[in-house]
Amino acid sequence: MASGQCLCGTVRFSLAVVPRFFYRCHCSLCRQQTGVGHNLATLAHARDFHWQAGEGAISSWRKPSGYRNDFCAQCGTTVPNPLREQPYVWIPLGLLDAGLSLTCAGDFCTDDAMPWDEQRCEHNHPGAPESLHFLVQALQLDAD
Ligand SMILES: [Zn+2]
Ligand SMILES: [Zn+2]
Repeated sequence: MASGQCLCGTVRFSLAVVPRFFYRCHCSLCRQQTGVGHNLATLAHARDFHWQAGEGAISSWRKPSGYRNDFCAQCGTTVPNPLREQPYVWIPLGLLDAGLSLTCAGDFCTDDAMPWDEQRCEHNHPGAPESLHFLVQALQLDAD
Protein backbone atom coordinates (compact mmCIF):
# COMPACT_ATOMS: atom_id res chain seq x y z
CA MET A 1 0.00 0.00 0.00
CA ALA A 2 1.02 3.54 -0.67
CA SER A 3 -0.76 6.84 -0.30
CA GLY A 4 -0.41 10.42 -1.35
CA GLN A 5 -1.95 13.87 -1.13
CA CYS A 6 -1.80 17.40 -2.45
CA LEU A 7 -0.29 20.36 -0.62
CA CYS A 8 -3.46 21.22 1.30
CA GLY A 9 -4.60 17.62 1.86
CA THR A 10 -7.94 18.06 0.10
CA VAL A 11 -7.07 15.52 -2.60
CA ARG A 12 -5.93 12.17 -1.22
CA PHE A 13 -5.43 8.79 -2.83
CA SER A 14 -4.11 5.34 -2.10
CA LEU A 15 -2.47 2.59 -4.12
CA ALA A 16 -2.99 -1.11 -3.55
CA VAL A 17 0.54 -1.76 -4.77
CA VAL A 18 3.78 0.01 -4.00
CA PRO A 19 5.29 1.53 -7.15
CA ARG A 20 8.86 0.42 -7.87
CA PHE A 21 9.82 2.45 -10.93
CA PHE A 22 9.33 6.01 -12.13
CA TYR A 23 10.33 8.04 -15.18
CA ARG A 24 11.47 11.55 -15.88
CA CYS A 25 10.19 13.68 -18.76
CA HIS A 26 12.20 16.75 -19.73
CA CYS A 27 9.78 18.21 -22.34
CA SER A 28 8.75 21.86 -22.20
CA LEU A 29 5.21 21.00 -21.08
CA CYS A 30 6.46 18.96 -18.14
CA ARG A 31 8.90 21.72 -17.23
CA GLN A 32 6.10 24.28 -17.15
CA GLN A 33 3.75 21.94 -15.34
CA THR A 34 6.23 21.35 -12.55
CA GLY A 35 8.21 24.58 -12.53
CA VAL A 36 11.46 22.63 -12.55
CA GLY A 37 13.59 20.81 -15.13
CA HIS A 38 11.52 17.66 -15.51
CA ASN A 39 8.61 15.81 -14.03
CA LEU A 40 8.92 12.63 -11.98
CA ALA A 41 6.01 10.30 -12.37
CA THR A 42 4.82 6.74 -12.49
CA LEU A 43 1.75 4.86 -13.65
CA ALA A 44 -0.52 2.52 -11.73
CA HIS A 45 -3.19 0.12 -12.91
CA ALA A 46 -6.56 1.83 -12.50
CA ARG A 47 -7.71 -1.18 -10.43
CA ASP A 48 -4.94 -0.46 -7.90
CA PHE A 49 -5.69 3.26 -7.57
CA HIS A 50 -8.32 4.70 -5.24
CA TRP A 51 -9.33 8.25 -4.44
CA GLN A 52 -9.64 8.71 -0.68
CA ALA A 53 -10.88 12.29 -0.70
CA GLY A 54 -11.25 15.41 -2.77
CA GLU A 55 -11.95 13.98 -6.21
CA GLY A 56 -14.61 16.66 -6.63
CA ALA A 57 -12.05 19.39 -5.95
CA ILE A 58 -9.96 18.50 -8.99
CA SER A 59 -9.82 20.95 -11.87
CA SER A 60 -8.43 20.04 -15.26
CA TRP A 61 -6.58 21.92 -17.98
CA ARG A 62 -6.07 20.32 -21.34
CA LYS A 63 -4.06 21.33 -24.35
CA PRO A 64 -5.61 20.59 -27.77
CA SER A 65 -2.76 18.11 -28.32
CA GLY A 66 -4.07 16.10 -25.36
CA TYR A 67 -1.55 17.05 -22.69
CA ARG A 68 -3.49 17.37 -19.49
CA ASN A 69 -2.84 18.82 -16.08
CA ASP A 70 -5.28 17.89 -13.32
CA PHE A 71 -4.80 19.95 -10.19
CA CYS A 72 -6.31 20.63 -6.79
CA ALA A 73 -8.56 23.67 -7.11
CA GLN A 74 -7.70 24.63 -3.52
CA CYS A 75 -3.91 24.60 -3.62
CA GLY A 76 -2.93 24.11 -7.25
CA THR A 77 -0.94 20.90 -6.78
CA THR A 78 -0.79 18.70 -9.86
CA VAL A 79 -2.65 15.51 -8.89
CA PRO A 80 -2.97 12.03 -10.43
CA ASN A 81 -4.98 11.74 -13.60
CA PRO A 82 -6.65 8.68 -15.10
CA LEU A 83 -5.53 8.16 -18.69
CA ARG A 84 -8.17 8.52 -21.36
CA GLU A 85 -9.49 5.17 -22.57
CA GLN A 86 -6.65 3.28 -20.90
CA PRO A 87 -6.84 1.50 -17.52
CA TYR A 88 -3.93 3.40 -16.00
CA VAL A 89 -3.51 6.38 -13.73
CA TRP A 90 -0.64 8.82 -14.06
CA ILE A 91 0.85 9.70 -10.67
CA PRO A 92 3.21 12.60 -9.89
CA LEU A 93 5.82 11.03 -7.64
CA GLY A 94 6.25 13.90 -5.20
CA LEU A 95 2.74 13.44 -3.83
CA LEU A 96 3.52 10.03 -2.34
CA ASP A 97 3.66 10.11 1.47
CA ALA A 98 6.28 7.46 2.20
CA GLY A 99 9.95 7.43 1.32
CA LEU A 100 9.69 4.52 -1.08
CA SER A 101 12.67 2.90 -2.71
CA LEU A 102 12.13 3.65 -6.40
CA THR A 103 14.30 3.21 -9.47
CA CYS A 104 14.31 5.44 -12.53
CA ALA A 105 13.17 3.41 -15.56
CA GLY A 106 14.00 6.07 -18.10
CA ASP A 107 14.54 9.69 -19.03
CA PHE A 108 12.38 10.94 -21.92
CA CYS A 109 12.49 13.97 -24.18
CA THR A 110 16.12 14.53 -23.26
CA ASP A 111 16.56 16.52 -26.52
CA ASP A 112 14.28 19.13 -24.95
CA ALA A 113 16.12 19.27 -21.63
CA MET A 114 17.56 22.57 -20.45
CA PRO A 115 21.35 22.74 -20.11
CA TRP A 116 21.01 23.16 -16.33
CA ASP A 117 18.96 19.99 -16.04
CA GLU A 118 21.62 17.30 -16.07
CA GLN A 119 20.15 14.41 -14.11
CA ARG A 120 19.81 11.19 -16.15
CA CYS A 121 19.53 7.47 -15.48
CA GLU A 122 21.12 4.89 -17.77
CA HIS A 123 18.06 4.69 -20.04
CA ASN A 124 17.96 7.88 -22.09
CA HIS A 125 15.40 8.61 -24.79
CA PRO A 126 15.68 11.73 -26.95
CA GLY A 127 11.90 11.81 -27.53
CA ALA A 128 8.67 10.85 -25.80
CA PRO A 129 7.80 7.19 -25.05
CA GLU A 130 6.88 5.60 -28.39
CA SER A 131 3.68 4.23 -26.88
CA LEU A 132 1.86 3.76 -23.61
CA HIS A 133 2.74 0.09 -23.87
CA PHE A 134 6.44 0.97 -24.01
CA LEU A 135 6.13 3.05 -20.84
CA VAL A 136 4.10 0.38 -19.05
CA GLN A 137 6.82 -2.15 -19.91
CA ALA A 138 9.59 0.18 -18.77
CA LEU A 139 7.83 0.72 -15.45
CA GLN A 140 7.38 -3.07 -15.12
CA LEU A 141 3.77 -2.68 -14.06
CA ASP A 142 2.97 -6.26 -14.97
CA ALA A 143 6.00 -7.83 -13.28
CA ASP A 144 5.69 -9.51 -9.92
ZN1 LIG B 1 -4.88 20.74 -2.41
ZN1 LIG C 1 6.89 15.71 -20.78
